[in-house]
Amino acid sequence: MNFPARHIGPDARETAHMLRRLGYRDLDQLIDAAVPDQIRITEPLDLPAARDEDRVLSDLRTLADRNRPRVQMIGLGYYDTVTPAVLRRNMLESPAWYTAYTPYQPEISQGRLEALLTFQTMIQDLTALPIAGASLLDEASAVMEAVLLMRRANKTKSSRVILDAECLPQTIALVRGRARAVGIDVEVAELSDGLPDGDAFGVVLQAPGASGVVRDLAELIADAAARGMLTTVAADLLSLTLLRAPGELGADIAVGSAQRFGVPLFFGGPHAGYLSVRAGLERMLPGRLVGVSLDAEAKPAYRLALQTREQHIRRDKATSNICTAQALLANVAAMYAAYHGPDGLRAIATRIHRHACAIAAGLRAAGHDVVHERFFDTVLVRSRGAAQRFVAAAEADGINLRLVDSDHIGIACDERTTDDVVARVLAVFDASVQPAVTTGFPAELVRTSTYLHHPVFHEHRSETAMLRFLRELSDKDLALDRSMIPLGSCTMKLNSAVEMEPISWPGFAGIHPYAPAGQTKGYLALIADLEGWLAEITGYDRVSLQPNAGSQGELAGLLAIKAYHSSRGESHRDVCLIPQSAHGTNAASAVLAGMRVVVVGTAANGNIDIADLRAKLAAHDGSVGAIMLTYPSTHGVYENDITTVCDLVHAAGGQVYVDGANLNALVGLAKPGRFGGDVSHLNLHKTFCIPHGGGGPGVGPVAVRAHLAPFLPGDPLAEDGPAPVSAANYGSAGILPITWAYLALMGPDGLTAATKSAVLAANYLADALTEHYPVLYTGPAGLVAHECILDLRALTKATGVTAEDVAKRLIDYGFHAPTLSFPVNGTLMVEPTESENLAELDRFIEAMIAIRHEIDQVGSGVWRLEQSPLRQAPHTAEQVTAPDWDLPYDRQYAVYPVDAVRRNKYWPPVRRIDGVHGDRNLVCSCPAPEAFEITDAPAVSDREEVFA
Ligand SMILES: *Cc1c(COP(=O)(O)O)cnc(C)c1O
Repeated sequence: MNFPARHIGPDARETAHMLRRLGYRDLDQLIDAAVPDQIRITEPLDLPAARDEDRVLSDLRTLADRNRPRVQMIGLGYYDTVTPAVLRRNMLESPAWYTAYTPYQPEISQGRLEALLTFQTMIQDLTALPIAGASLLDEASAVMEAVLLMRRANKTKSSRVILDAECLPQTIALVRGRARAVGIDVEVAELSDGLPDGDAFGVVLQAPGASGVVRDLAELIADAAARGMLTTVAADLLSLTLLRAPGELGADIAVGSAQRFGVPLFFGGPHAGYLSVRAGLERMLPGRLVGVSLDAEAKPAYRLALQTREQHIRRDKATSNICTAQALLANVAAMYAAYHGPDGLRAIATRIHRHACAIAAGLRAAGHDVVHERFFDTVLVRSRGAAQRFVAAAEADGINLRLVDSDHIGIACDERTTDDVVARVLAVFDASVQPAVTTGFPAELVRTSTYLHHPVFHEHRSETAMLRFLRELSDKDLALDRSMIPLGSCTMKLNSAVEMEPISWPGFAGIHPYAPAGQTKGYLALIADLEGWLAEITGYDRVSLQPNAGSQGELAGLLAIKAYHSSRGESHRDVCLIPQSAHGTNAASAVLAGMRVVVVGTAANGNIDIADLRAKLAAHDGSVGAIMLTYPSTHGVYENDITTVCDLVHAAGGQVYVDGANLNALVGLAKPGRFGGDVSHLNLHKTFCIPHGGGGPGVGPVAVRAHLAPFLPGDPLAEDGPAPVSAANYGSAGILPITWAYLALMGPDGLTAATKSAVLAANYLADALTEHYPVLYTGPAGLVAHECILDLRALTKATGVTAEDVAKRLIDYGFHAPTLSFPVNGTLMVEPTESENLAELDRFIEAMIAIRHEIDQVGSGVWRLEQSPLRQAPHTAEQVTAPDWDLPYDRQYAVYPVDAVRRNKYWPPVRRIDGVHGDRNLVCSCPAPEAFEITDAPAVSDREEVFA
């Protein structure tokens, strides 16, 4: 069977059945009716013909073979590491982990929430700061988030931030570019003689420095505090097992990367960034934060804390635009720490340090100039005019060193460094291993505090224990490997095994992002293919794969628009028009790009209100920079007016940003670059099969028309050119083979067929459900695009049953909820995608109709709302097997409401979780095991103090 038939759920017979229900002769007739003529493309996509699975794997093998994994000693924030096989196979490569969605529905996400909480606990312990979030996108962007946080938290009028000259060069490049956009002055200062004069709201220090130096930062931090500045320390996580932690030095914030905790180099990503803060800053933290709350039985349960801070709610008041983060990689890092434990991590760090000391000693003995007396893993050698020669000699022996400049070489040791590697490095310098080598640090730098006390870092040290722990956690969760995840706007489609397999091959996983171009030819070819294919699909001229999430693509696109206006002497064009229904990241990105958000209203039919658009354009005549709209709209409708909207904005001198999150409704049918867009971001983790990973990774390429191409994100290590938005030039390059494979497997016809099938599935659901839950908006011919909004507001008004109740009751039926209350409060947005076959669609319809009957039972007074299966949902095994049962429906009905559930029952591990409690009593690290002890009377009031 060909791959498109594997990827697309419904076969020809099922497709015919669905079309018949809708009253269409064939798919083309349906698509002709649904998609406005003026945006349709007539020619097929100009992409390579579909290849079968075997062929794609062998083609990818050829590409991987053109990359040259070397001994990677470049450092600069990226270190080789050993991914324990038990984690690679049972987490990184396990669909139970990688196909999960972001844990917005906490009852079905307890496993990954527990793993993320373990990540937070690990970061808190190692940095000695009490609150850490559940991952940021990479180290450089995490530093920028810290800079923004310092500015928010500091009342000073100063708009200056001081960056340590020892900061990683990619960090400096990224912060410079992003700071400029929001009016922050960056001063990069050499700090060996203390802080520079003058005011600043904050300082960023790097520990160890980019040159490898280990310094005593306590005095600088104290000085900064005395002068009213906040301090961020960008710290190497592994070094913190040996060296004093940022929190112990008095820092307010710690940031960095968790890459070297078991996550492959991946040519730059995906890796988890981290950020932790001192008490008092937790409510300003960017990104997601996992917290502990209570379920309906007052048992501890995990959830995303302070969700109201999320950009969906905050919109233009957002403090960060991060949505998709790096959950899967954060979880790998957390389990790496759990597997090694504090002593294991310390042993790894000690061995690395010993190897670095051996290199330094050998070099010194041979008369080389080792610059720093104190270092952790990186040795800096000064060799006037000869650096290039040594780096080349090392490369010839299969070792990558860092060419700092013509006089300096950096040599970074890591978990993979062996005695043999040390000897080979020394041989390059005509040096040899010395018999006696001193290691260690002066007392004032040594960490004396202990860390990672929680049992999670001690109980899973054998492989059997870890294997079962990973299984225990993933069994608690509902991911795509169990049932459909019909989340509107999120496009939870198949992530096929063939697409996933290549990412752990050493030819892709073992490449350093700053490796010489001669070693990365396979990646560069794959990236060039992908850029070209995505340009063809979207109708744009150029694509950058650098942004590592949709949000970062948005930012990159808006920064390109700003730079473009600026280049034409129109830097005053700073208004960004955003429709009311837009995703929260849109407004947040506009703010982070230094633009002013002006909201455009929605007309009664859900489309952009053209009259309001005209009014806003007139009111801001001369300052309109851009409109940022989603197409099809977030209402799941192909708007007829789209070309008019684009024309009006262009006529007013603005640029059109088309949010590409809904591209699954366009591929092969229409191209945003053709119907009026100047720039779009895509979400490869939606339309193009990169799995969601339980909240990341993602890739958010930005695609532009030619006039914006000069302003695309630049190389983070380049001396000049546009600023980068990620630390690595190709962002999360390591997962690009997934999308490459998808496009190669599907070919132009398969991709177009997938789009059509996605539209058919959405319309089939809309048609079947609208009499039970009115579909809020439809477009041409009464059809929806690839998703539909079910309106529960009238039912809520009549019965009190909320969209959230329905979302939770769906868990008892074995389903993940649709998107809840976005883009319209009190609604559910359903996106089935093309990957679900008819049986699964029908099972979902059956569940939704059965739930509608339950709502009617509440409406007619048979059940009181509080005592209904809707409000009681989800039901746990413990609850229905307890001796007491006083609900007005029986236990069987609670957990087996329809027959289909009996065959394949998902048991949620907790009952409904009390969100408010968790926010009032913020606990963001792993609770002590006693918190889970069964006590006789778990009264809420008694329990509270455990978490207070
Ligand atoms: C998912 C989404 C985004 C944000 O993308 P991330 O990859 O999560 O950062 C932006 N806009 C829309 C409409 C989306 O659905």
